[in-house]
Amino acid sequence: MDKRVAIVTGASRGIGRGIAKRLAKDGRHVVAVARNAEQLQSLEAEIIAAGGSCEHRTCDIADGLAVQRMVEEVSEKHGRLDILVNNAGITKDGLLMRMSDADFDEVINVNLRSVFIACRAASRPMLRGKFGRVVNIGSVSGVEGNKGQANYASAKAGVIGLTKSMAKELGAKGITANVVAPGFVETDMTAFLGPDDKKKVAEHITVGRLGIPEDIAAAVAYLTADDAGYITGQVLVVDGGLPM
Ligand code: NAP
Repeated sequence: MDKRVAIVTGASRGIGRGIAKRLAKDGRHVVAVARNAEQLQSLEAEIIAAGGSCEHRTCDIADGLAVQRMVEEVSEKHGRLDILVNNAGITKDGLLMRMSDADFDEVINVNLRSVFIACRAASRPMLRGKFGRVVNIGSVSGVEGNKGQANYASAKAGVIGLTKSMAKELGAKGITANVVAPGFVETDMTAFLGPDDKKKVAEHITVGRLGIPEDIAAAVAYLTADDAGYITGQVLVVDGGLPM
């Protein structure tokens, strides 16, 4: 494999699908990961039809061992791993005083623990290759906190601490690690907002609209570029200018 190999989790839909398509367009071999095989197959076909390079793997990132195996198998198959984008994520919103232990634990497990396991597994092949670009998708909620998102904001804030630590540990080895923290992006995750809600939200956003997956993908493409080696340990907020 002479192309740079990029794992993108949560690539079946939403932001991850946008990231996968953009990285493939930029000449990466994309390994698209999620649970929904049908959606991953359609993404793979779409990328290949557009002249890109892609394969898909189903993996439930709630299962730490499966995440570890997935990263190891991809690195072994291609003899390299250059880019890791930990994008898959969930919400289980509720006010703190009513939030169950299970909803807290599930969000931490999927949104933070899986990122830790994937980063740990990716470190070895990236060290071997003396090159690595890790982008973890955070959220403005992880920077600012948010009502109804104690679990989600904790996980996303944890992702920032994890990423900065990884950046410090591996920076001298050619490996960068950064967070992209989106604001409101139009995906299934924000589908609970009706047209009127979206209009109201957009009025508070400086650029006057909600984000689209391509907006986040552009930031990921920037941070995973070969010549982005001097940017590490950063949190790039991509929210169109959203006052929290
Ligand atoms: P989405 O449309 O709900 O998509 C979530 C993706 O994560 C899907 O591809 C889903 O794939 C995957 N996923 C969820 N649980 C998984 C699991 N257990 N194993 C494997 N894959 C799993 O969400 P999105 O809006 O694109 O969000 C993507 C990332 O951006 C998340 O980390 C989210 O927290 C973050 N973010 C989103 C917004 C926003 O406004 N949309 C704002 C800030 C941050 P399968 O269902 O096929 O497994």
